[in-house]
Amino acid sequence: MQHVTLNNGVQMPVLGFGVYQIPPERTERAVSEALAAGYRLLDTAPYYGNEEAVGRAIAASGIPRADLFVTTKLWVQDAPAQENTRRAAEDSLARLGLDHLDLYLMHQPYGDVYGQWRAMEDLNREGLATAIGVANFYPDRLVDLVVNNDTTPAVNQIETHPFFQRTADQRLMRECGVQLQSWGGLAEGRAELLTHPLLGEIGRQHGRSVAQVVLRWLVQRGVVAIPKSVRPERMAENIAVFDFELTDDQMASIASLDTGTPQFLDHHDPRTVAWLARRRLARTG
Ligand code: NAP
Repeated sequence: MQHVTLNNGVQMPVLGFGVYQIPPERTERAVSEALAAGYRLLDTAPYYGNEEAVGRAIAASGIPRADLFVTTKLWVQDAPAQENTRRAAEDSLARLGLDHLDLYLMHQPYGDVYGQWRAMEDLNREGLATAIGVANFYPDRLVDLVVNNDTTPAVNQIETHPFFQRTADQRLMRECGVQLQSWGGLAEGRAELLTHPLLGEIGRQHGRSVAQVVLRWLVQRGVVAIPKSVRPERMAENIAVFDFELTDDQMASIASLDTGTPQFLDHHDPRTVAWLARRRLARTG
Protein backbone atom coordinates (compact mmCIF):
# COMPACT_ATOMS: atom_id res chain seq x y z
CA MET A 1 0.00 0.00 0.00
CA GLN A 2 1.27 3.46 -0.87
CA HIS A 3 0.87 6.33 1.58
CA VAL A 4 0.58 10.09 1.38
CA THR A 5 2.10 12.36 4.00
CA LEU A 6 -0.34 14.84 5.53
CA ASN A 7 0.66 18.40 6.45
CA ASN A 8 1.38 17.38 10.05
CA GLY A 9 3.65 14.50 8.99
CA VAL A 10 1.04 11.76 9.49
CA GLN A 11 1.12 8.94 6.94
CA MET A 12 -2.23 8.04 5.37
CA PRO A 13 -2.91 5.07 3.05
CA VAL A 14 -3.72 6.28 -0.46
CA LEU A 15 -6.56 3.75 -0.75
CA GLY A 16 -9.12 2.87 1.89
CA PHE A 17 -12.60 1.51 2.46
CA GLY A 18 -15.74 3.66 2.78
CA VAL A 19 -18.89 2.44 4.51
CA TYR A 20 -21.53 4.97 3.45
CA GLN A 21 -24.86 3.29 2.63
CA ILE A 22 -23.83 -0.03 4.16
CA PRO A 23 -26.69 -0.84 6.56
CA PRO A 24 -25.51 -1.13 10.20
CA GLU A 25 -26.43 -4.83 10.36
CA ARG A 26 -24.28 -5.52 7.26
CA THR A 27 -21.33 -3.32 8.18
CA GLU A 28 -19.37 -5.51 10.61
CA ARG A 29 -19.13 -8.27 8.02
CA ALA A 30 -18.20 -5.87 5.22
CA VAL A 31 -15.46 -4.20 7.28
CA SER A 32 -14.10 -7.59 8.41
CA GLU A 33 -13.95 -8.68 4.77
CA ALA A 34 -12.30 -5.40 3.76
CA LEU A 35 -9.65 -5.77 6.49
CA ALA A 36 -9.04 -9.35 5.33
CA ALA A 37 -8.62 -8.03 1.77
CA GLY A 38 -5.86 -5.70 3.01
CA TYR A 39 -7.60 -2.36 3.55
CA ARG A 40 -6.27 -0.45 6.57
CA LEU A 41 -7.99 2.93 6.13
CA LEU A 42 -11.66 2.88 7.20
CA ASP A 43 -13.97 5.84 6.55
CA THR A 44 -17.21 6.13 8.52
CA ALA A 45 -19.41 8.87 10.04
CA PRO A 46 -22.19 9.24 12.63
CA TYR A 47 -24.41 10.15 9.67
CA TYR A 48 -23.94 6.62 8.28
CA GLY A 49 -25.25 5.05 11.50
CA ASN A 50 -22.65 2.29 11.44
CA GLU A 51 -19.75 3.41 13.67
CA GLU A 52 -20.51 0.72 16.27
CA ALA A 53 -20.38 -2.00 13.65
CA VAL A 54 -17.09 -0.63 12.32
CA GLY A 55 -15.77 -0.71 15.89
CA ARG A 56 -16.83 -4.34 16.34
CA ALA A 57 -15.02 -5.37 13.16
CA ILE A 58 -11.88 -3.53 14.27
CA ALA A 59 -11.96 -5.22 17.67
CA ALA A 60 -12.53 -8.65 16.14
CA SER A 61 -9.74 -8.24 13.58
CA GLY A 62 -6.85 -8.39 16.04
CA ILE A 63 -4.99 -5.93 13.78
CA PRO A 64 -2.73 -3.66 15.87
CA ARG A 65 -4.29 -0.21 16.29
CA ALA A 66 -1.15 1.44 14.93
CA ASP A 67 -1.64 -0.37 11.61
CA LEU A 68 -5.13 1.08 11.12
CA PHE A 69 -6.17 4.52 9.94
CA VAL A 70 -9.67 5.28 11.18
CA THR A 71 -11.62 8.30 9.99
CA THR A 72 -14.94 9.51 11.27
CA LYS A 73 -16.75 12.80 10.90
CA LEU A 74 -18.47 15.55 12.82
CA TRP A 75 -22.04 16.27 11.75
CA VAL A 76 -23.30 19.88 11.86
CA GLN A 77 -23.76 20.74 15.54
CA ASP A 78 -26.25 22.96 17.29
CA ALA A 79 -24.84 25.79 19.41
CA PRO A 80 -22.78 25.86 21.54
CA ALA A 81 -20.49 24.33 18.93
CA GLN A 82 -17.44 24.09 21.19
CA GLU A 83 -19.18 21.93 23.77
CA ASN A 84 -21.22 19.87 21.32
CA THR A 85 -18.25 19.10 19.08
CA ARG A 86 -16.33 17.58 21.97
CA ARG A 87 -19.35 15.55 23.00
CA ALA A 88 -19.88 14.35 19.42
CA ALA A 89 -16.24 13.27 19.13
CA GLU A 90 -16.40 11.43 22.47
CA ASP A 91 -19.62 9.70 21.37
CA SER A 92 -17.96 8.59 18.10
CA LEU A 93 -14.92 7.28 19.97
CA ALA A 94 -17.20 5.34 22.34
CA ARG A 95 -19.18 3.83 19.46
CA LEU A 96 -15.96 2.88 17.65
CA GLY A 97 -14.38 1.54 20.86
CA LEU A 98 -11.24 3.63 20.23
CA ASP A 99 -9.21 6.08 22.31
CA HIS A 100 -8.24 8.23 19.33
CA LEU A 101 -9.12 8.87 15.70
CA ASP A 102 -6.50 9.04 12.98
CA LEU A 103 -8.56 11.63 11.13
CA TYR A 104 -11.60 13.62 12.23
CA LEU A 105 -13.41 15.48 9.46
CA MET A 106 -15.99 18.25 9.63
CA HIS A 107 -18.64 16.59 7.46
CA GLN A 108 -20.28 19.71 6.02
CA PRO A 109 -19.16 23.34 5.61
CA TYR A 110 -22.24 24.64 7.42
CA GLY A 111 -23.39 25.88 10.81
CA ASP A 112 -20.89 27.36 13.24
CA VAL A 113 -17.91 26.17 11.20
CA TYR A 114 -15.42 28.26 13.20
CA GLY A 115 -16.67 27.09 16.60
CA GLN A 116 -16.59 23.51 15.38
CA TRP A 117 -13.11 23.91 13.91
CA ARG A 118 -11.66 25.45 17.08
CA ALA A 119 -13.07 22.56 19.10
CA MET A 120 -11.52 20.15 16.61
CA GLU A 121 -8.19 21.95 17.00
CA ASP A 122 -8.43 21.30 20.75
CA LEU A 123 -9.16 17.60 20.13
CA ASN A 124 -6.14 17.50 17.84
CA ARG A 125 -3.85 19.13 20.44
CA GLU A 126 -5.06 16.66 23.06
CA GLY A 127 -4.34 13.67 20.81
CA LEU A 128 -7.96 12.54 20.47
CA ALA A 129 -7.65 13.15 16.74
CA THR A 130 -4.19 12.69 15.24
CA ALA A 131 -5.20 14.77 12.22
CA ILE A 132 -8.22 16.98 11.55
CA GLY A 133 -9.74 18.01 8.26
CA VAL A 134 -12.90 18.91 6.43
CA ALA A 135 -15.24 17.55 3.78
CA ASN A 136 -17.29 19.18 1.04
CA PHE A 137 -15.46 22.51 1.26
CA TYR A 138 -15.31 24.44 -2.01
CA PRO A 139 -12.11 26.48 -2.50
CA ASP A 140 -13.53 29.78 -1.25
CA ARG A 141 -14.64 28.34 2.09
CA LEU A 142 -11.48 26.26 2.40
CA VAL A 143 -9.17 29.24 1.94
CA ASP A 144 -11.24 31.29 4.39
CA LEU A 145 -10.87 28.53 7.00
CA VAL A 146 -7.14 28.18 6.33
CA VAL A 147 -6.28 31.87 6.58
CA ASN A 148 -8.34 32.51 9.71
CA ASN A 149 -7.22 29.61 11.90
CA ASP A 150 -4.08 28.15 13.43
CA THR A 151 -4.46 24.63 12.01
CA THR A 152 -4.71 24.02 8.27
CA PRO A 153 -7.03 21.08 7.54
CA ALA A 154 -4.94 18.02 6.71
CA VAL A 155 -7.58 16.70 4.29
CA ASN A 156 -10.56 17.92 2.29
CA GLN A 157 -12.82 14.98 1.33
CA ILE A 158 -14.83 15.99 -1.74
CA GLU A 159 -16.74 14.42 -4.60
CA THR A 160 -14.06 13.47 -7.13
CA HIS A 161 -14.36 11.04 -10.07
CA PRO A 162 -13.83 11.18 -13.86
CA PHE A 163 -17.03 13.22 -14.41
CA PHE A 164 -16.05 15.78 -11.71
CA GLN A 165 -12.28 15.81 -11.52
CA ARG A 166 -11.48 18.84 -9.28
CA THR A 167 -8.14 19.51 -10.99
CA ALA A 168 -8.05 23.24 -10.17
CA ASP A 169 -9.29 22.51 -6.64
CA GLN A 170 -6.51 19.97 -6.20
CA ARG A 171 -3.93 22.52 -7.35
CA LEU A 172 -5.20 25.06 -4.83
CA MET A 173 -5.31 22.47 -2.05
CA ARG A 174 -1.71 21.52 -2.82
CA GLU A 175 -0.71 25.17 -2.47
CA CYS A 176 -2.47 25.27 0.93
CA GLY A 177 -1.06 21.90 2.07
CA VAL A 178 -4.46 20.16 2.08
CA GLN A 179 -4.67 16.55 0.85
CA LEU A 180 -7.53 15.79 -1.56
CA GLN A 181 -9.53 12.70 -0.65
CA SER A 182 -12.18 11.53 -3.10
CA TRP A 183 -15.67 10.51 -2.12
CA GLY A 184 -17.84 8.82 -4.73
CA GLY A 185 -14.68 7.86 -6.63
CA LEU A 186 -16.65 5.24 -8.57
CA ALA A 187 -19.49 7.73 -9.06
CA GLU A 188 -21.43 5.67 -6.51
CA GLY A 189 -21.49 2.76 -8.97
CA ARG A 190 -23.27 4.60 -11.79
CA ALA A 191 -23.46 2.66 -15.03
CA GLU A 192 -22.45 5.72 -17.12
CA LEU A 193 -19.04 5.47 -15.46
CA LEU A 194 -18.62 1.73 -15.12
CA THR A 195 -19.63 1.05 -18.74
CA HIS A 196 -17.93 4.07 -20.26
CA PRO A 197 -16.35 3.02 -23.60
CA LEU A 198 -13.15 5.06 -23.16
CA LEU A 199 -12.53 3.70 -19.66
CA GLY A 200 -13.41 0.19 -20.89
CA GLU A 201 -10.87 0.48 -23.71
CA ILE A 202 -8.12 1.67 -21.32
CA GLY A 203 -9.03 -1.23 -19.04
CA ARG A 204 -8.69 -3.68 -21.93
CA GLN A 205 -5.23 -2.31 -22.71
CA HIS A 206 -4.12 -3.18 -19.16
CA GLY A 207 -6.30 -6.26 -18.63
CA ARG A 208 -8.16 -4.37 -15.87
CA SER A 209 -11.75 -3.43 -15.00
CA VAL A 210 -13.13 0.09 -15.37
CA ALA A 211 -13.28 0.40 -11.55
CA GLN A 212 -9.55 -0.41 -11.39
CA VAL A 213 -8.76 2.15 -14.11
CA VAL A 214 -10.69 4.83 -12.23
CA LEU A 215 -9.10 4.03 -8.86
CA ARG A 216 -5.64 3.88 -10.46
CA TRP A 217 -6.31 7.25 -12.11
CA LEU A 218 -7.17 8.72 -8.69
CA VAL A 219 -4.12 7.37 -6.84
CA GLN A 220 -1.86 8.26 -9.76
CA ARG A 221 -3.08 11.87 -9.36
CA GLY A 222 -2.14 11.70 -5.67
CA VAL A 223 -5.80 11.58 -4.62
CA VAL A 224 -6.75 9.34 -1.69
CA ALA A 225 -9.65 7.02 -2.66
CA ILE A 226 -12.11 5.18 -0.39
CA PRO A 227 -14.30 2.95 -2.59
CA LYS A 228 -17.24 1.22 -0.94
CA SER A 229 -18.39 -2.31 -1.75
CA VAL A 230 -20.22 -5.03 0.12
CA ARG A 231 -18.82 -7.70 -2.22
CA PRO A 232 -15.50 -9.35 -1.30
CA GLU A 233 -14.57 -9.91 -4.96
CA ARG A 234 -14.96 -6.17 -5.64
CA MET A 235 -13.06 -5.27 -2.45
CA ALA A 236 -10.16 -7.35 -3.79
CA GLU A 237 -10.50 -5.87 -7.28
CA ASN A 238 -10.56 -2.30 -6.00
CA ILE A 239 -7.39 -2.60 -3.94
CA ALA A 240 -5.40 -4.29 -6.77
CA VAL A 241 -4.33 -1.08 -8.48
CA PHE A 242 -0.68 -0.81 -7.49
CA ASP A 243 0.85 -3.09 -10.12
CA PHE A 244 0.04 -1.18 -13.30
CA GLU A 245 0.37 2.41 -14.44
CA LEU A 246 -1.69 4.57 -16.78
CA THR A 247 0.29 6.29 -19.53
CA ASP A 248 0.36 10.07 -19.91
CA ASP A 249 -1.90 9.71 -22.97
CA GLN A 250 -4.40 7.64 -20.99
CA MET A 251 -4.38 10.18 -18.14
CA ALA A 252 -4.95 12.96 -20.70
CA SER A 253 -7.83 11.12 -22.38
CA ILE A 254 -9.55 10.55 -18.99
CA ALA A 255 -9.15 14.29 -18.32
CA SER A 256 -11.49 14.89 -21.29
CA LEU A 257 -14.40 13.27 -19.36
CA ASP A 258 -14.59 16.10 -16.81
CA THR A 259 -17.96 17.90 -16.80
CA GLY A 260 -16.79 20.32 -14.11
CA THR A 261 -20.07 19.91 -12.25
CA PRO A 262 -21.10 17.84 -9.21
CA GLN A 263 -23.17 14.75 -9.99
CA PHE A 264 -24.61 14.24 -6.51
CA LEU A 265 -24.78 17.27 -4.19
CA ASP A 266 -23.96 20.86 -5.10
CA HIS A 267 -22.73 22.42 -1.87
CA HIS A 268 -23.19 25.89 -3.36
CA ASP A 269 -26.89 25.30 -4.00
CA PRO A 270 -29.03 27.06 -1.35
CA ARG A 271 -31.47 24.10 -1.45
CA THR A 272 -28.63 21.74 -0.50
CA VAL A 273 -27.60 24.04 2.33
CA ALA A 274 -31.17 24.25 3.66
CA TRP A 275 -31.74 20.49 3.28
CA LEU A 276 -28.55 19.57 5.12
CA ALA A 277 -29.20 22.18 7.82
CA ARG A 278 -32.47 20.46 8.66
CA ARG A 279 -30.74 17.12 9.21
CA ARG A 280 -29.65 17.01 12.83
CA LEU A 281 -28.55 13.66 14.23
CA ALA A 282 -30.10 12.35 17.43
CA ARG A 283 -27.52 11.70 20.14
CA THR A 284 -27.11 7.94 20.52
CA GLY A 285 -24.40 8.03 23.17
P1 NAP B 1 -18.36 4.80 -4.50
O1 NAP B 1 -17.29 4.19 -3.69
O2 NAP B 1 -18.03 5.75 -5.60
O3 NAP B 1 -19.28 3.67 -5.17
C1 NAP B 1 -19.84 2.64 -4.43
C2 NAP B 1 -20.77 1.87 -5.36
O4 NAP B 1 -20.00 1.25 -6.40
C3 NAP B 1 -21.50 0.78 -4.66
O5 NAP B 1 -22.82 0.76 -5.19
C4 NAP B 1 -20.77 -0.50 -5.05
O6 NAP B 1 -21.68 -1.58 -5.13
C5 NAP B 1 -20.21 -0.15 -6.41
N1 NAP B 1 -18.91 -0.78 -6.68
C6 NAP B 1 -17.83 -0.82 -5.84
N2 NAP B 1 -16.80 -1.44 -6.42
C7 NAP B 1 -17.21 -1.81 -7.66
C8 NAP B 1 -16.59 -2.50 -8.73
N3 NAP B 1 -15.33 -2.93 -8.64
N4 NAP B 1 -17.30 -2.71 -9.87
C9 NAP B 1 -18.60 -2.27 -9.96
N5 NAP B 1 -19.23 -1.60 -8.98
C10 NAP B 1 -18.55 -1.37 -7.83
O7 NAP B 1 -19.45 5.58 -3.59
P2 NAP B 1 -19.54 6.09 -2.10
O8 NAP B 1 -19.70 4.93 -1.18
O9 NAP B 1 -20.58 7.12 -2.07
O10 NAP B 1 -18.15 6.82 -1.82
C11 NAP B 1 -17.07 6.17 -1.18
C12 NAP B 1 -16.96 6.57 0.28
O11 NAP B 1 -16.79 7.99 0.39
C13 NAP B 1 -18.23 6.32 1.12
O12 NAP B 1 -18.41 4.98 1.43
C14 NAP B 1 -17.99 7.21 2.30
O13 NAP B 1 -17.08 6.61 3.21
C15 NAP B 1 -17.37 8.44 1.63
N6 NAP B 1 -18.37 9.50 1.31
C16 NAP B 1 -18.23 10.70 1.92
C17 NAP B 1 -19.11 11.74 1.65
C18 NAP B 1 -18.95 13.05 2.34
O14 NAP B 1 -19.86 13.89 2.29
N7 NAP B 1 -17.82 13.29 2.98
C19 NAP B 1 -20.18 11.55 0.75
C20 NAP B 1 -20.30 10.30 0.13
C21 NAP B 1 -19.38 9.29 0.42
P3 NAP B 1 -21.51 -2.90 -4.18
O15 NAP B 1 -21.42 -2.43 -2.75
O16 NAP B 1 -22.75 -3.68 -4.48
O17 NAP B 1 -20.25 -3.56 -4.65
